Amino acid sequence: MALESINPATGEVVARYEEMKPQQVEEILQQAHQAFQSWRRTPFARRADLLREAARVLRGRAQEYARLMALEMGKPVRDGRAEVEKCAWACEYYAEKGEAFLAPELVETDASKSYVSYQPLGVVLAVMPWNFPFWQVIRFAAPGLMAGNVGVLKHASNVSGCALALEELFREAGFPENTFRTLLVSSKQVEAIIENRHVMAVTLTGSTPAGRAVAARAGAMLKKTVLELGGSDPYVVLEDADLAAAVETCVAGRMINGGQSCIAAKRFIVVDAVREEFQARVVEQMASYQPGDPLDEATRMGPLARVDLRDELHAQVQESIRQGARCLLGGEVPPGPGAYYPPTVLADVGPGMPAYHEELFGPVATIIAARDETDAIRIANDTAFGLGAAVFTRDVARGERIAREELQAGSCFVNAFVKSDPRLPFGGVKESGYGRELSYHGIREFVNVKTVWIR
Ligand code: NAP
Repeated sequence: MALESINPATGEVVARYEEMKPQQVEEILQQAHQAFQSWRRTPFARRADLLREAARVLRGRAQEYARLMALEMGKPVRDGRAEVEKCAWACEYYAEKGEAFLAPELVETDASKSYVSYQPLGVVLAVMPWNFPFWQVIRFAAPGLMAGNVGVLKHASNVSGCALALEELFREAGFPENTFRTLLVSSKQVEAIIENRHVMAVTLTGSTPAGRAVAARAGAMLKKTVLELGGSDPYVVLEDADLAAAVETCVAGRMINGGQSCIAAKRFIVVDAVREEFQARVVEQMASYQPGDPLDEATRMGPLARVDLRDELHAQVQESIRQGARCLLGGEVPPGPGAYYPPTVLADVGPGMPAYHEELFGPVATIIAARDETDAIRIANDTAFGLGAAVFTRDVARGERIAREELQAGSCFVNAFVKSDPRLPFGGVKESGYGRELSYHGIREFVNVKTVWIR
C-alpha cells in the first residue's frame, strides 16, 4: 500500500510513498536500538551542540519546510515559517536547559551518598498528527534526544514528505546515524511496533480514539505512554470583559491553523449580559478571514487538511443546526476543488449537539449562552475534554481564581488564547490525555528516575 500526500488546495497528488514492510521496520528499530548504546553515553554538551545545529538547519530551511507543509496539509506559508521558528526555539531551549533539568538530585538519607539520577530509556516511538507537522515532532524529539533517548517517528499518513524532511534534518545537523528515524507506515502497523522489544515507550499526539488504541496496546505491553489528545477548549467571557479585546483574542484563538489546533478556542461560553454584542463582533471578525491559496504569502487561512476531514466537520455543523443551533455565518461547502471550508459561526448551541460535546476541528466558532459566572464554569467543565481553557474579565484576580481553581484543563489562560511555550508544561486532563510535554516536566517523562544509594 502507498501513503499518499494530496494537496488539499487542489486535490492533486503531491507524492506517493511506498509503505515500509514489517521487515524493514524491524531493521530500523534494531538500528535505532544499536544507536542508543552509544548515544546514551554521549555527553550533554555534545547533544546540546547538535540540537543547536538542528535549530540552525531549521532556520536555514524554513521556507522549504513551510512550502512542504502548505503542499501536504494546506498551512499558509507564513504560518509554516513561524512553526519552524518555534521548532528552532525548542531545540535551543533544550540545548541550554536539558542538562540542568536532568542533573542528579542529592537526597540526605542514612547512606553516605544517595541521589536521584535521570537515565534515558532507549527507543521511543512517536505517533504524530498532521496539524503542526514539524512542531509536534520537535516538541517530542528535542527533549527526547537531549535526554539520551533515540526517536522513531510514525507520522500521519498525509505528511510523509514532512516526516522524511525531519529525519533528514537531524542527519544534516550531524546527529549520529539512526538516532532519529522515520517509519513510513500506516496506523495498522503501529500495534506491532509498540510490541517490538526495542521500543521502550510511546508518545502519541492525535485524536482521542487513536490515543485509546495506542494506550491499550502499550498498556498490555507495560510500556509507558504520554498522550496529547483532542480538546474542546472553553473560552468563558464574563460580563466585565473588555469585549473588543476578548473578541479579537477569541477569534484569533479559534482560527489558529484554520481552526485545526488541539488548543484552538472551540466553545465560547458567554454570559447573557454581553452575548448579543459578542456574537455580532465575532461574526464581523470571523468574516474577515478569506480562505486562500496556502502558497500565497498574503493568505491567512488555507483549506482544511483533507476533504474527508472537511466533510466530517460539515456534518457536525449541519447536525448542530438540525438540532437548533443558529448559523450566523458560513456553514456551506464552497464549490470547486480542495478541502475549503468557510469561517462559520454557530449561536444558541446547547447540550445534545455535536458543537456542544465534540471537537470541531476547523474554522467554526460555537457560542453557548450562560446565565452568570457559575453557570459558565459549569458549562465549561461539561465536557469529556480537558486540554486548555480561557477566561475573559477585567478583574484579573477573578480571572486568576477561575483559571486556577475552577476550570478543568491542563492549561488555563486569563485574557489570552491558549498557546504552548517550551518553558511551560503542556498537556491535558480527562479525555485530552495524560503526561506533559515541554518544560522540565516534558524531558522527565521518558527517563528512568533512578535511585542511587551508596553505603
Ligand atoms: P489522528 O487521526 O488521531 O492521527 C494522529 C496519528 O495517530 C497519526 O499518525 C495516525 O496515523 C495515528 N493513528 C490514528 N489511528 C490510530 C490507531 N488506531 N492506532 C495507532 N495509530 C493511529 O489525528 P489527526 O487527525 O492526525 O489530528 C487531529 C487530532 O489530534 C485532533 O483530535 C487534535 O485535537 C489532536 N491533537 C492534539 C494535540 C495535543 O497536543 N493534545 C496536538 C495536535 C493535535 P494515520 O495518519 O496513518 O492514520
